[in-house]
Amino acid sequence: MLFIANWKMNPTSLKQAQKLNKNIKDKLKKINKEKKAKVIICPPTIFLSKLFQKNKLIQYGVQNICFEERGAYTGEISVLMAKDQGANYSIIGHSERKQIAGEDNYTISQKVNLCLANNIKPILCVGENLQEKNHAKTGLVIREQLQIALKNVKINDIEKIIIAYEPVWAISSQDNARPGTPDSILGASIIIRKELLNLYNHDVATNIPVIYGGSVSKDNVLDYSGNSNLNGFLIGSASLNAFDFSQIIEKYIQSAQKQT
Ligand code: PEP
Repeated sequence: MLFIANWKMNPTSLKQAQKLNKNIKDKLKKINKEKKAKVIICPPTIFLSKLFQKNKLIQYGVQNICFEERGAYTGEISVLMAKDQGANYSIIGHSERKQIAGEDNYTISQKVNLCLANNIKPILCVGENLQEKNHAKTGLVIREQLQIALKNVKINDIEKIIIAYEPVWAISSQDNARPGTPDSILGASIIIRKELLNLYNHDVATNIPVIYGGSVSKDNVLDYSGNSNLNGFLIGSASLNAFDFSQIIEKYIQSAQKQT
């Protein structure tokens, strides 16, 4: 089970970031002895090298990379730099990047390929916005996002990708955000796996991790526990609190254990 923390542009000092990282690690020592949870933290890139330590409890990622490997791109971070500083993962195509920086599916495709070429696992975000949802376009949008983002990804590489279903309307930073219902998440995870079957094969469609992100909290995480299509969560605001984040992990693992 994957539990990926997206800290976004938080916290605002290295000291606070180190404290949060340590608190999460301390909690994981207690609740994840059997290593049932794979925890990945994506802090602000500027803190990454100060937090990164090779360890069995937490792996690290970045929240974005530049669409080019090197060159005159003021303010950007290269995939080579991310790798050099300890990242093994990168979130790609987060809806906030689409909104803030106007990223489109083609740029996302470039970034996915750059990650794969440099041994960084992409956490590829897909999902519809509220308007698309209201016009019953969820399937159409997800399929198009996957088709373009994965266009140049060969079958040997596809297994390195994690797909995060993040409906924009469910992300806590949005006005009137509300978590996706278990049924809507189940529906979207089926759409994603069907499209992977269409683009690749049955093994790929079954084995690729599909995770959900959007207002996941310690109070609602168990609502999703019956969905065997789901392999974990991408967690934003609740990952900024070590207690809340670890509760999400602990509750989910315990419930998964009871079901087996
Ligand atoms: C996110 O932005 O990736 C996210 C899932 O945020 P939140 O959990 O705060 O909705």
